[in-house]
Amino acid sequence: MADQRVVVVGGGLAGMAAAVALESAHGPVTLIEARKTLGGRAGSFEDPQTAEVLDNCQHVLLGCCTNLLDFYARIGVADRIHWENTIRFVDPRGKTHGLRGGRRLPAPLHLLLGGATFGALSLRQRWQLARAMAAMLRLGRGGRAKLAETAFGQWLADHGQSEDLIERFYEIVLVSALNEQCRRASAGYAIQVLQESLLFHASGYRFGTPACPLGRLYEKIPCRDVRLGTRMTGLRFSGQRAIGVELDDEFLEAQAVVLATHYQALDKWIPPELAAADGRFAGLSQLESVPILGAHLWFDRPVLSMPHAALMGGPLQWLFRKDSEGRVVHGVISAARDWAGRPKDQCLDVLVNQIRSTFAAAREAKLDRGVIVIEKRATFSPLPGVDRLRPAQAPPPGGIANLFLAGDYTRTGWPATMEGAVRSGYLAAEAITGRKFLAADLPLQWPARVLATAKSE
Ligand SMILES: Cc1cc2nc3c(=O)[nH]c(=O)nc-3n(C[C@H](O)[C@H](O)[C@H](O)COP(=O)(O)OP(=O)(O)OC[C@H]3O[C@@H](n4cnc5c(N)ncnc54)[C@H](O)[C@@H]3O)c2cc1C
Repeated sequence: MADQRVVVVGGGLAGMAAAVALESAHGPVTLIEARKTLGGRAGSFEDPQTAEVLDNCQHVLLGCCTNLLDFYARIGVADRIHWENTIRFVDPRGKTHGLRGGRRLPAPLHLLLGGATFGALSLRQRWQLARAMAAMLRLGRGGRAKLAETAFGQWLADHGQSEDLIERFYEIVLVSALNEQCRRASAGYAIQVLQESLLFHASGYRFGTPACPLGRLYEKIPCRDVRLGTRMTGLRFSGQRAIGVELDDEFLEAQAVVLATHYQALDKWIPPELAAADGRFAGLSQLESVPILGAHLWFDRPVLSMPHAALMGGPLQWLFRKDSEGRVVHGVISAARDWAGRPKDQCLDVLVNQIRSTFAAAREAKLDRGVIVIEKRATFSPLPGVDRLRPAQAPPPGGIANLFLAGDYTRTGWPATMEGAVRSGYLAAEAITGRKFLAADLPLQWPARVLATAKSE
């Protein structure tokens, strides 16, 4: 059956999703991953000092991530996600303002009470926000697609959103979902995040964090031939077809290859003449990579009593409690361009000072240990027009006929997220098999449906 084999290169979420879908519906699949563990950017590593398993960075998912949840169900770990219905905003003086979503009312009514009493914003700001949300709702999914080339900053200005509201709400909610300053991002993607998580379905608002290290989620994926610590060293072609994958000491013949590595390396594998004939590779060099900083912090006493905090004064944007006491916490800065070159000790000083000045319990706390992880090329930036640069998973006519792409950077209709990565893997598997794997989006609940224009839906 070697001639039927599909080789999936890269064991991040995109590669795993492709492999698991193919395994369920196709012939033999081999998934190869250069590292010793699965997960890629949404994975874990062993701390060389303590052998503790740490996540590359805290990852958050939302109830609207229907394909990621489908994938978790397929690999049997859906029950390992811890869900919350309140996002806790904390201002620089330590005051907490919960934005609660009611589960009993349909969207957008589920956020009416929570939004109306959301003390982090003034009455004037709440009113401005409500008007913008109504406008986003009216756009529906069709209307937001037309905003793919518009900067969200422009849209916010056109809809009378003040600078202080942008800083106190939009930036906090969107910078982590988009890994880009919200004003720079495409209005299409910014509005997508807000529509799908806040406005269309009450379940979209659920805020999930894995209850174990990320790497543990992938320990038993239903794919029989997973080869860890196995690096692709080359791709072999015959004419317009890939005939297999070269490893250090083996050649894996393949009927089709799914490349689920990051986009920065693709030109290493594809000969220029084949790439030139395949439009998928034309825009990749114009994608802009944006860093994310993750800080693992161990204090000598509990510093954070709540499970998470969305911090309204930077530089840390989010802080997560990582143990039951709140002594171990994890902080995140997305769109961390200013942090990429800084010495780690300097980063630690600034972040610890922020935590001490925000949380009363942390005033006298001493940092026992800190590990800073800066992913310089964390994700691509969802700037206006970015979809013109993102490749489809399937080859175009005249392209490399049996080479499929998967990865958060491919054209999924989602920003670079775990959800986007899983969608890309499913789309690659759909292109290979002709079977359907993509899970449907959450439907618009009736009040949202009534408020959205019929035309745009
Ligand atoms: C710091 C950080 C925080 C994030 N936070 C969130 C979040 O909170 N929520 C969210 O939804 N998303 C988040 N993301 C985004 C999310 O992690 C990514 O979108 C997603 O994991 C990308 O998956 P992928 O499979 O496309 O790519 P990757 O995870 O990069 O997978 C590519 C894989 O290919 C392997 N590979 C490369 N070359 C070879 C080779 N030659 N041979 C074999 N294997 C190879 C790599 O080792 C890697 O495992 C975050 C990302 C980062 C970096």
